[in-house]
Amino acid sequence: MQKKKTSKKLWIRSAVQIFFFGLIALIAVNHSLAEEGRGIAFLSSASLHAICPFGGVVTLYQLVTTGTFVQKIHESSVVLAGLVLLLAILFGPVFCGWVCPLGTVQEWFGKLGKKIFRKRYNHFIPQKIDRVLRYLRYLVLGWVIYMTAISGTLIFSNLDPYYALFHFWTGEVAVTGMIVLGVTLLGSLVVERPWCKYACPYGALLGVTNLFRVFKIRRKESSCISCNLCSEDCPMNIQVSQKKVVRDHQCISCLECTSEAVCPVADTVVLSIGEK
Ligand code: SF4
Ligand code: SF4
Repeated sequence: MQKKKTSKKLWIRSAVQIFFFGLIALIAVNHSLAEEGRGIAFLSSASLHAICPFGGVVTLYQLVTTGTFVQKIHESSVVLAGLVLLLAILFGPVFCGWVCPLGTVQEWFGKLGKKIFRKRYNHFIPQKIDRVLRYLRYLVLGWVIYMTAISGTLIFSNLDPYYALFHFWTGEVAVTGMIVLGVTLLGSLVVERPWCKYACPYGALLGVTNLFRVFKIRRKESSCISCNLCSEDCPMNIQVSQKKVVRDHQCISCLECTSEAVCPVADTVVLSIGEK
């Protein structure tokens, strides 16, 4: 197996992921401390709900029909949801590949999985089954939006591994949430980002922007040497080496395939707005 060169682009992504993971963990811990009157002085006591863009999505129906928010959701979530969507329309689901701490923690477990299973890692599920499973997340999205609209509560938090990851110490997390988190983390040892691929409703929504995003991942056939390394390295198993333009709904805009550490021919896979 070819040893990876160091890449500035991949290093920057790791740094951004660590920053957001640390920031969100700090906000969650501080919120718990603030409820006991021991919050960190210079931090706001805002809860995770206030900074969750998916909360802004699920509250939209209630906001439009009644002018009120689903319980625990704040205006800030709607603003964040708008910003994340705008970013996705421009560059694809950057939130998934660079910001979401649940995606990050799955990647960390995945690094261990790669060490254990090496080349077999991320290739255990037969392609035919895998292809069908990847549409499950749209069913989850529909179910979450419908159930939130009719109940007016954050119905998904009882199943949400993101919520469980940052609240497991509070006693507020349902057993189901802990089970989903456990299955997600264990699953990450054999499949890269299993939650993102098969179940995440927010990833499903943002993934649609891959069909029409402004800046697209493009492969130049003229310089490609068909080594297949970009396909092998894609965490979402997208066959980049067989495409001119990546329009796959599962792309998370991680930009791994555009890195010189992956493609041996410089500027062959690029993020660009035009044909060049
Ligand atoms: S196609 Fe490229 S940018 Fe998209 S998920 Fe795969 S490696 Fe990341
Ligand atoms: S890694 Fe680069 S050279 Fe190899 S198949 Fe992909 S685009 Fe072509």
